[in-house]
Amino acid sequence: DIVPIRRALLSVSDKTGLIDLARALHAAGVELLSTGGSAGALREAGLPVRDVAEVTGFPEMMDGRVKTLHPMVHGGLLALRDDAGHVAAMEEHGIAPIDLLVVNLYPFEATVARGAEYDTCIENIDIGGPAMIRAAAKNHGFVTTVVDVEDYAPLLEELAQGGTSLAFRKRMALTAYARTAAYDAAVSAWLADAIAEEAPRRRAVAGTLAQTLRYGENPHQSAAFYRDGSTRPGVSSAAQLQGKELSYNNINDTDAAFELVAEFDPAEGPAVAIIKHANPCGVARGASFEEAYQAAYDCDRTSAFGGIVALNGALDGATAKRITEIFTEVVIAPEVTDEAREIFAAKKNLRLLVTGGLPDVTAPGRTWRQVSGGYLVQDRDNGRLSLPDLRVVTKRAPTEAEMADMLFAWRVAKHVKSNAIVYVKGGATVGVGAGQMSRVDSSRIAARKAGDMAEALGLSELPTIGSAVASDAFFPFADGLLAAAEAGATAVIQPGGSMRDAEVIAAADEAGLAMVLTGMRHFRH
Ligand code: 5GP
Repeated sequence: DIVPIRRALLSVSDKTGLIDLARALHAAGVELLSTGGSAGALREAGLPVRDVAEVTGFPEMMDGRVKTLHPMVHGGLLALRDDAGHVAAMEEHGIAPIDLLVVNLYPFEATVARGAEYDTCIENIDIGGPAMIRAAAKNHGFVTTVVDVEDYAPLLEELAQGGTSLAFRKRMALTAYARTAAYDAAVSAWLADAIAEEAPRRRAVAGTLAQTLRYGENPHQSAAFYRDGSTRPGVSSAAQLQGKELSYNNINDTDAAFELVAEFDPAEGPAVAIIKHANPCGVARGASFEEAYQAAYDCDRTSAFGGIVALNGALDGATAKRITEIFTEVVIAPEVTDEAREIFAAKKNLRLLVTGGLPDVTAPGRTWRQVSGGYLVQDRDNGRLSLPDLRVVTKRAPTEAEMADMLFAWRVAKHVKSNAIVYVKGGATVGVGAGQMSRVDSSRIAARKAGDMAEALGLSELPTIGSAVASDAFFPFADGLLAAAEAGATAVIQPGGSMRDAEVIAAADEAGLAMVLTGMRHFRH
């Protein structure tokens, strides 16, 4: 799959490294084609070069708006070299193949960044460059596309072995499309900002506009929802069977709810998650969905009001009835029975989403977050514990029931904003502490909420007594762990890895706790 390079087209705005590259190409016997300014620079350096204008038979015109937009260029980039019809077309029209395209675009982003006038920005929208890049990258089976000065050296290394490999051309094609996509995104962002009321509703993001939202997190923020083309079952691909239009916060919370409930394999039984402000206020398993819903609801009835409910299987009539007993914003499930639909029909505002399936929580993916002036990109947290990785570090080993609750709590903790502390008993959360700046506060809040619930439900003892507790990251001190022991937890699951692990383990032993270390943490911010 090594393709030799006989002809190259060089058309660059940023001339960094151009001469060195052209010299090396010339030395390797490559014929050079080029556009006005680039050709001038090459000639000045004494390199033989043919003007694209000579190849197309048209001069560059309209201030450079039209230079390379011609079949002699695009035919040479796009023709399949192993297709008899394409080869015949090249011969008939005298089109010579172009094996290497080196382009970098008019500096649109830099022009906007220096605060240039509107018309100057418009003139800096490159047309022929992206067209050639996209053409050459499409034909990466035969053509090499280089759009980044950083790739000149790797290109020459490839040529030293006689031509470019398919792997290299593919990588260059990916870089090429990433560049043209980013370029057009920059153009769209500039125009969107110029028409303030359209931002962010029409600006390009990696995806297609799914829905213009009434507003964002708050009514004074305009907002939109984009789909990224993923087929992952979830809020973006769900069918909405009834209810008001989803809001920005609904979509965010529904996603959190469904991703959480998907942690629980339906083969192991029904599970229900109730979410408020992207944090779970109750998650439970049960013999039925009704039972699981009730147990999740009992974790924190106060917060569940106006919440979002996610199921890992078909929503049935009995559960639907239970859900309608309080105000609920959204219900999302892979399926819904006719009976449940009928019951919901009486609650016109209740949004019901059906996804057809559960997402694979272990699947790879990326998440984005905006910071001022940029984006943070990372792999989705698809980390899953494997039982052999767990390390019991206390004198007392957990019982089977404790182990089951610890693993349940650990899965929930992954979906709770840090610092996360999750108490679980009998397959249901009984206390969730989320989003606190100190771990000990999360631990205390979770226990306090459990106490409030015990009082509200008229329980004779705290539901945290005999529970397992999960911490999304290590306990830096023994205090958070002791707060959990005080609340009655008997088993602890946490990543470990603190400088003070020994102190924390000793405190656990002292309190008679069983503790396991996961070696993996689940920060979520
Ligand atoms: P040069 O400095 O060689 O005159 O121009 C190089 C620049 O022109 C490159 O940034 C390239 O992307 C751009 N370019 C090449 N062909 C065309 C075209 O047909 N129209 C426009 N607008 N730009 C082009």
